[in-house]
Amino acid sequence: MNGANTRSGTGLVRLVGAGPGDPELLTVKAARAIAEADVVVFDRLVSGAILDLVPPGTRRIDVGKSTGHHPVPQEAINALLIALARAGHRVVRLKGGDPFLFGRGGEEALALRAAGIGVEVVPGITSAQGCAASLGVPLTHRTLASGVRFVTGHARAGAELDLDWDGLADPDTTLVVYMGLASIGAIATQLISAGRGPATAVLAVSRGTLHDQRAVTTTLERLSRETDHLDLPSPTLFIVGEVARLAQSKPVSEHDPCHEPPHRALVAAE
Ligand code: SAH
Repeated sequence: MNGANTRSGTGLVRLVGAGPGDPELLTVKAARAIAEADVVVFDRLVSGAILDLVPPGTRRIDVGKSTGHHPVPQEAINALLIALARAGHRVVRLKGGDPFLFGRGGEEALALRAAGIGVEVVPGITSAQGCAASLGVPLTHRTLASGVRFVTGHARAGAELDLDWDGLADPDTTLVVYMGLASIGAIATQLISAGRGPATAVLAVSRGTLHDQRAVTTTLERLSRETDHLDLPSPTLFIVGEVARLAQSKPVSEHDPCHEPPHRALVAAE
């Protein structure tokens, strides 16, 4: 099988990226894996519109986690996937965005491999790409950003956020902060201390590519002063850098996957 690492009798788990939300941003391979699965184990970030693609007879298991609240511990998810594969089921482990960008897909793959279970990874469009594209923002640009870095704004329980502040202060690098809703004020303050310009643009995109997407443009300085004025629902992603100024005032897609009201227009934070 293409890309699979099956060993007879041990089963296979497909670790599948669901993309940022819009079902049209699912890959053809992901859609086929969902259609062929016996059981789909999914996260909180997988949109309802994508779950609607799971055939009615297919078993669904919700192992969704919300910040600070873990209904199903990671070890239990790993054990569940192993048990389902050993029972001979065609298992799809569906994760928001790309399974190997944050969200612990790497840990799941390693646990499965250690148990002798074959793992096939189906990449997904990560939310940074979905959010940026929906507002016409290039993450790199010949004159504005020579590179891009994806970082997490979430620290381990009890630990300080320990990012490479000097490296991230480089004005030529676009910075995308995942899981940063609670920490973006502190991140902005640290970036400014490390030398990134206080007027650097920041685009916050909430529920990107979904029918109720919201986007706000602001600056590092404003974020460092107060964060609660953003008042954006989760999930939210932050794009920091001069490219953020190129955001269009309306999402680019004409298509409304959920047949609901059009996306909310971009609003400035002040
Ligand atoms: N594997 C996922 C990321 C998981 S971490 C991916 O590749 O996208 C969860 C974080 O992803 C959220 O806190 C948020 O920062 C971001 N995120 C996921 N979906 C999003 C969406 N539709 N809009 C905005 N941010 C999103």
